[in-house]
Amino acid sequence: MTTRLVILGKQGAGKGTQCGLLVENYGIPHISTGDMLRAAVAEGTEFGMQAKAVMDAGDLVSDKIILGIVEDRLAEPDAAAGFLLDGFPRTAAQADGLVELLAPGSVDLAINIDVPDDVVLGRMLERGRDDDTEEAISRRLALYRSETAPLLDFFNAGGYLVTVDGLGAEEEVQERIVAAIAIEAHKRDD
Ligand code: ADP
Repeated sequence: MTTRLVILGKQGAGKGTQCGLLVENYGIPHISTGDMLRAAVAEGTEFGMQAKAVMDAGDLVSDKIILGIVEDRLAEPDAAAGFLLDGFPRTAAQADGLVELLAPGSVDLAINIDVPDDVVLGRMLERGRDDDTEEAISRRLALYRSETAPLLDFFNAGGYLVTVDGLGAEEEVQERIVAAIAIEAHKRDD
């Protein structure tokens, strides 16, 4: 069985942390568009410098660029047995692009890690990344609401969505996610 997972949730919901634990549990690659963009920034390429300006402002990198990066990454051999998509898709165009990339297959499950706004705000201010200024955070949360939250309906309509409570200890949240994946695998075996 392949394990093709999409991890959804607001900035600061703990997607990265939970993906780290899922990598250990399932041995599938963690594909984070944010991490790939930060790697390009660290390399100091021209593309990386352009991406940094967009990211520091809390804006979204263009769908075309993101889809190109994800397409290349999914074509690598380690993604054949499954993958964890983190931070992608976050617009309707990216979700459509993903459906095209995976056709005729699809994802197995989209997991929404649910955490209230006030909690994610506190977590982001604590971690203090370059783009974790109050201004950029509020821009990112606004874009989450307008562009990304509607994707919950998209995955729900396809029957792929499960929402997991993201409050509590990291291990507790991971247990909830593992349980949701097991239930889904069981359903498909029936
Ligand atoms: P966060 O979840 O806190 O926004 P990420 O690491 O997922 O952190 O993303 C950091 C920044 O990288 C985003 O604010 C955005 O500028 C850019 N980015 C990451 N993923 C995408 C994507 N799928 N589409 C557009 N921009 C993206």
